[in-house]
Amino acid sequence: MNKHRLQPRKRFSQNFLVDRNVIDKIIQAIQPRIDNHIVEIGPGRGAITGGLLASAGRLDLIEIDRDLVKLLQGKFGTAVNIHSTDVLKFDIESLWQNKPFRIVGNLPYNISTPLLFKLMRRTELIEDMHFMLQREVVERLVSVPSTPEYGRLGIMAQYHCRIEKCFDVPPGAFSPAPKVQSAVVRLVPHEDLPFPVADETILRSIVTTAFSQRRKTLRNALKSMLDEKTMEAAGVDSRLRPENISLEQFAGLANIMVQTSGEHP
Ligand code: SAM
Repeated sequence: MNKHRLQPRKRFSQNFLVDRNVIDKIIQAIQPRIDNHIVEIGPGRGAITGGLLASAGRLDLIEIDRDLVKLLQGKFGTAVNIHSTDVLKFDIESLWQNKPFRIVGNLPYNISTPLLFKLMRRTELIEDMHFMLQREVVERLVSVPSTPEYGRLGIMAQYHCRIEKCFDVPPGAFSPAPKVQSAVVRLVPHEDLPFPVADETILRSIVTTAFSQRRKTLRNALKSMLDEKTMEAAGVDSRLRPENISLEQFAGLANIMVQTSGEHP
């Protein structure tokens, strides 16, 4: 393969992990086991792949860059199942092998938010997820109400998963070094949702509408969807801002909206 073609491609957010200690720490955080089915998103040159393969039972790789796919085929042969495609267009259900799989990835930062939203819709297929992300995105995932990081991503991810930050990773661990700090995060889908809603699309739509105008009060931001009386009936102070409302309260608003729309067809 021509050396020039293996130059990192910016359009695919290619920042390859080169720090052995960080790679080992990621494998330790994941603790792959022989009975695991692991799916790695964006394996690149295989920095994490080797460590996963040493323990995992089955390993699927999803990689968009065809040159890297060839390199991975040469490196790992038939020990891995490679899907040469864009993960955003890929149907992850096609990977199902009778039990939930574990997802891992030093994710391409340019697609990490849409990818996380996509995966949140299929958590019944997933045992857990370990991702390297831009640190700012990890802070949004683990955020709590009344902080600047709190918003749509954290609420929807926490609706589905227990989330913990594992550790920070400096730019020098990658080649080329990204301009931002990174961190590794673990997301484990809840067995039983702590705040279940009758209709998740309604929760999504309330949260999206509320945070599209996060400086407004809730009564103004959600004016088109819920009146003040209904918000108060759900125990939510409509004079607060969206950033002050907990996941439990947003779930309460979604459920009361379903109830009241049933009362007034
Ligand atoms: N895992 C490798 C590592 O740690 O060195 C590479 C990580 S690099 C940040 C992101 C990888 O995701 C690259 O290999 C890139 O080609 C791949 N990638 C980018 N966009 C993708 C997409 N839409 N679908 C699948 N893979 C993608």
